Amino acid sequence: MSNGNFYIETYGCQMNEHDSEKMAAALKRMGLTPVPTPEAADVVLINTCSIREKAEHKVYSALGKLKPLKKKNPLMITVVAGCVAQQRRADLLKKVGHLDAVVGAHQISELPSIIRRVRKTKERIDATQFTSRVESLHLNAPGLGPSRVWSYVTVMQGCSNFCAYCVVPFTRGPEQSRPSEEVIRDVRGLVNKGRREVTLLGQNVNAYGRDLGNGTNFPRLLQELDRIEGLARIRFTTSHPKDFGTDLARAMADLPSLCEHIHLPLQSGSDRVLKAMGRGYTLAEYTAKVEMLRQMIPKVAITADMIVGFPGESDEDFEQTLSALERIRYDQIFSFKFSPRAGTRAQNLPDQIPDEIKAARLKQVHAIQDRITLDYHRASEGVIEETLIEGIKEGSGQPYGRTRTNKIVNLDGSNCAAPGELIPVKITKGLKHSLVGERV
Ligand code: SF4
Repeated sequence: MSNGNFYIETYGCQMNEHDSEKMAAALKRMGLTPVPTPEAADVVLINTCSIREKAEHKVYSALGKLKPLKKKNPLMITVVAGCVAQQRRADLLKKVGHLDAVVGAHQISELPSIIRRVRKTKERIDATQFTSRVESLHLNAPGLGPSRVWSYVTVMQGCSNFCAYCVVPFTRGPEQSRPSEEVIRDVRGLVNKGRREVTLLGQNVNAYGRDLGNGTNFPRLLQELDRIEGLARIRFTTSHPKDFGTDLARAMADLPSLCEHIHLPLQSGSDRVLKAMGRGYTLAEYTAKVEMLRQMIPKVAITADMIVGFPGESDEDFEQTLSALERIRYDQIFSFKFSPRAGTRAQNLPDQIPDEIKAARLKQVHAIQDRITLDYHRASEGVIEETLIEGIKEGSGQPYGRTRTNKIVNLDGSNCAAPGELIPVKITKGLKHSLVGERV
């Protein structure tokens, strides 16, 4: 029986997307039905991101659009979850009169009871307390998610690193790992439902197991997952460079299901800036790890995050970032202008960089990386890549999928492969953002 409709809008990282999947599963268990627009919903949930100022602004604008809807339908329940909820808490409830509840990262499992309470008592709820055991970490989202071919699985959440610019330790709390048997059970369940690939999520997967105190660690977890029959591919994100070591590189080289791709955020090419960011490594230490990876796994694709315009970043510091990009030659990067976040050390650092300089620097970074990415894509023309088909484009019937190195491949021809098939594809054209190929 339907208990009403719900709509979820998600901003931010994969961890947020996966949290939304868990919240959708919980709402479905309550008897609510998902709808594609907020206009048709009785419960509207905005799962927020506050990693950058722009992402936070989007939340306020989304909330503004809900005001007339709530006026039309006063029984509509509006909820803000995620990082902005965690950071702004009661302040958000005070400022946004039509908001019913804020739900922090540690309280996701409480969502159904929060909605019941609001329905019954009409009270406005602040559920943003941190707990020592995050219940939502132990929830899985069976059979949900963006794809029928692959799924996210959280292995740990939170972060204890406190990089100078980052809100995550404040919004998600300290590192907490899931017991390995729970992760293995979830992955087995997903494989039984037909998933061929999983992406293991954690703010710093290298910290996996440290808090469990039973000797387990991330490479050991990977070894166990690799034994699961029917699981073709394992990916993971994110790995902190300071904690990345030979044991994980060895696992990547040895375990057949572990894909040859790693996201290893550098953030800056200047040691001075890295120190101010509190990243815990120098450029030389970082590049030594990249070299080790490339020696052990010659095909490995490496991606990174970069921040430009961190407070005090001089022209010389920025030149070092550009030269690091040229030397390391990433397959792809995600680059951002520094954005001061409330409560972080970097918010009040002197020498904040004017926005027009940040924008110009970002443009230079994009130009270099676009050229390098295109070089990689063109160099793969003629190469045969194992491709996992993820879907079929509507209209054209063109299958698309990803290589083990996480590159998107669009197949030439229609309906020549089905989602879930793992097939050899000859790359025929390398484009700026993707590859074109034909089934061999
Ligand atoms: S490692 Fe640093 S950037 Fe990454 S989540 Fe933790 S504090 Fe944020």
